Amino acid sequence: MMQTPLLLTQMIERAEKYFPKKEIVSRTESGIQRFTYKQWGERTRRLASALHKLGVREGDKVGTLAWNHHRHLEAYFAIPCSGAVLHTINIRLSPQHISYIINHAGDKVLLIDSDILPLIDKIKDSIQGVEAFIVMTDGEVPKTSLENVYHYEELLSEGDPSFSFRTDLDENAPAGMCYTSATTGNPKGVIYSHRGIVLHAMALGLADTTGVCEKDTALPVVPMFHVNAWGLPFASVWFGTKQVLPGPYFTPGILAKLMQDEKVTITAGVPTIWLGLLNEIEQNEYDLSSLRSILCGGSAAPRGMIKAFEERFGIPFMHAYGMTETSPLAVIAASKSYHADLPADEKLDLKAKQGILVPGLEMKIIGKDGEVAWDGKEMGELALRGPWIASEYYQDERSQDAFRDGWLYTGDVVTIDEEGYIKIVDRTKDLIKSGGEWISSVDLENALMAHEDIFEAAVVAVPHEQWQERPVACVVLKESSRGKVTKEDILDFLKPQFAKWWIPDDVLFMSEIPKTSVGKFLKRTLRDQVQDKIKQV
Ligand code: ADP
Repeated sequence: MMQTPLLLTQMIERAEKYFPKKEIVSRTESGIQRFTYKQWGERTRRLASALHKLGVREGDKVGTLAWNHHRHLEAYFAIPCSGAVLHTINIRLSPQHISYIINHAGDKVLLIDSDILPLIDKIKDSIQGVEAFIVMTDGEVPKTSLENVYHYEELLSEGDPSFSFRTDLDENAPAGMCYTSATTGNPKGVIYSHRGIVLHAMALGLADTTGVCEKDTALPVVPMFHVNAWGLPFASVWFGTKQVLPGPYFTPGILAKLMQDEKVTITAGVPTIWLGLLNEIEQNEYDLSSLRSILCGGSAAPRGMIKAFEERFGIPFMHAYGMTETSPLAVIAASKSYHADLPADEKLDLKAKQGILVPGLEMKIIGKDGEVAWDGKEMGELALRGPWIASEYYQDERSQDAFRDGWLYTGDVVTIDEEGYIKIVDRTKDLIKSGGEWISSVDLENALMAHEDIFEAAVVAVPHEQWQERPVACVVLKESSRGKVTKEDILDFLKPQFAKWWIPDDVLFMSEIPKTSVGKFLKRTLRDQVQDKIKQV
């Protein structure tokens, strides 16, 4: 067979050639803007030529600090298709972590949304390697003490709309990079090659995974600054999919209205986003009949939430699993043809699992005594390998912890059933080890979140003299239920569902569960809070 390279350049060229009329809808600070792929392609080439004029060359890192909008999508292609590396930076990280990763990556130029500029202003003394700052805005560049600041639109107006993209790059060359959101220590960088991104996008297009296609209208809620918005922008451009980019500071109401008005068919985000949307559509009426799939990943989707979307609102819900290191799609809860006849409850059980391995990848699950049995019970750590799985962290000694003998050890403890469906039981570090047995905090959380009065819940381990660790539940009640539900009510709700020793020792009511920059429960902080509370008692 021929050895033609798999490059992002092919994706944008295909969109320009075959889908020039298809639309990109972008919500920015001044409202909704619309572009055709033809217009967007020209703007993307203008940006690439402007970056070239600023001295960006093959292999240089260009950082972005931006929400989901058309300019960010332009950067997604202008940078890698001219041989440089798109470094998406998580804007919700702490200023220290942001300056750490800008320096660690060695970013030469930064593209920054105007509302994020003050943050960069503050850390400017610690990021002196950056040579130019380009501000993405519909209006004026806000006042700043930074030097070498450029207005994105002014640069574009002087750019070349027919700038040539590189077709001669090595497919293994870096195209993008993203740092993990770091619950401990400094963030770790992952490099995405052209080849990895292209093959991952191809996997997103498979009918048995997310099936993204030309007929779709895709709305990625998952930020473009975190794991390439799960690769949706790449797949969408390649396949000519209409894109709806929700921009900054959206609310569940804004999302629901965008989905209704633009007839969105597929959307993607973390469970906290979908809990918010569910709350919104329970209270206000929207026509979301165009939605064929809500893709949910990043942390476990509560069964009760899946049930509500599917049964009450008729919106198909798709649970998936991945991580920054896996581009991210690795496992998806696609049912098999013969599952169609299962009773509703069993179908729901299947949907609440993370699912089966995506074609193209390999996995093994290592338990205490080697690979675990496919019995849905034995627990082990999931290890993955494949063409869109990272092989190391970027210039980081911590690589050897996770990458061993050609496999990525995910740090996720899972079970696998007879049909090959994986269930995430916990992160290795969040498992509760009570009297030599393991308790899954995730299972308890899912059960709690199915309680009609509970808005969100997390379960953490507290040290225990006799049992080593014991579970404690942290519960946020729905507003209307506050003060009406007791600890005993909650424990009574759990008792019939679990073995006695799994039942939490205590229930703490809270106003909010602390979350990471991407909306996951921040267990480390929560553990500290719980221990402080317990000490006070
Ligand atoms: P970080 O952990 O730095 O936030 P990622 O976004 O890469 O970075 O998170 C990956 C982790 O998220 C996985 O290792 C896993 O623990 C968790 N995760 C992802 N998807 C799911 C899911 N569907 N169910 C449960 N956990 C998930």
